[in-house]
Amino acid sequence: MKSPIPDYLLEVVEACGTDNPGATADYIPELAQADPDRIAVCLSTIDGVVYTAGDADAEFSIQSISKPFVYALALADHGIDAVLARVGVEPSGEAFNELSLESGSGRPLNPMINAGALTAHALVGPATATTEERFERVLRGLSAFAGRDLAVDESVFDSELSTAYRNSAIANMLRSYSVIDGDPAEVVRGYTRQCAITVTVRDLAVMAATLANGGVQPLTGQRVVSRTVVRQVLSVMMTCGMYDAAGDWMSTVGIPAKSGVSGGVLGALPGQVGIGAFSPRLDAHGSSVRGVRMCRRLSDDMGLHIMDGPEPARSAIRRDRRLRGPGGHTVRVCSLQGTMQFSGAELVLRALASAEDAERLDGVVLDLRRVHSVDDVAERMLREALRRLRLDGLRVTVVDPECVLDTHAHTHRPARDGEIADEFAPDLASFDNFERV
Ligand code: GLU
Repeated sequence: MKSPIPDYLLEVVEACGTDNPGATADYIPELAQADPDRIAVCLSTIDGVVYTAGDADAEFSIQSISKPFVYALALADHGIDAVLARVGVEPSGEAFNELSLESGSGRPLNPMINAGALTAHALVGPATATTEERFERVLRGLSAFAGRDLAVDESVFDSELSTAYRNSAIANMLRSYSVIDGDPAEVVRGYTRQCAITVTVRDLAVMAATLANGGVQPLTGQRVVSRTVVRQVLSVMMTCGMYDAAGDWMSTVGIPAKSGVSGGVLGALPGQVGIGAFSPRLDAHGSSVRGVRMCRRLSDDMGLHIMDGPEPARSAIRRDRRLRGPGGHTVRVCSLQGTMQFSGAELVLRALASAEDAERLDGVVLDLRRVHSVDDVAERMLREALRRLRLDGLRVTVVDPECVLDTHAHTHRPARDGEIADEFAPDLASFDNFERV
């Protein structure tokens, strides 16, 4: 069978490309020259399958879409607190190139506006790094997110640097407040080079998928940054990523995102998908008109709005039966399924706590064969439930051949070593010898 997804994406490109309003960015001469008719979209799953439509191989400079990734590198290098001391996380509601700092602290409001992005750039690597060393770390870091070696478009770099009056003003202001150290001109130089790194929609989608995948690059399998860093980055993208249209984007598209003045848009839906879109003409906020349209369409069609949320909890308990084993014991067999997080585990705890027939039971079997993952919180909750059932005098058995309960907390011995080694164990594979009561 030929997958219908590329056909669907082509439909999206055609439907969103019928007209081409807006204007290319003109404050960077090289961007004003971009072919305005190009349009492309790409989806990357978190296991690295990539679907494209339109001019998927068209290259363009990454511009502001570099900001969340460089912020991620600064966080990875110095930790959240040290970075927060220099750059805040509050939406500014102002244009991306506004000369504004938080009153009192002098910090830039967030890392998605230029003041914050210049600061994040200056924070990458050790404090002693030269401009070249810092840029090397940025280029290698972004390449790790993309899963291939990225390069700089020298003509975009020269073009932007020769007209970087506003960013120079911002960097000088940051230096005067000691938010950045060293030579402001060098920070502008490094940041401008960062913005001139060339990508395609495919790169954007895969970089986004790395964020959606908790920091592990889907194609190379490399952990690029930690989950904690990813959470911080996605939060800031959600609240500040779309320039001064963040609220509109949140309510209509609802995907953590970042756009750039060359016409790229990147969206990362945690646990699901990375999106890259491109078309050079921009709206009044500085985001690609047709790129935004395509993202909105994808979100609507595929139910990607983050606030639509998953609903796993109702189905966490697959079956809850009372069975009598060959030895005459009565056991409660509680079979769980899916992904176990707080709400699913709460449902299980509630069911176990409310058993009216507890005194007639000899044991409880927690059957995890259809559970594919248990997060830290759910694991603690389930383990506490097992402990309390034992304190109530019940025999407790965990059927967990894949050790889903053991992937996080290595301080506990594997459930199958000791806990299920009891008289029910031989029959647990199917419960065939058990009868219903
Ligand atoms: N290099 C651009 C600037 O600093 C990036 C702006 C953007 O893409 O929003 O002006």
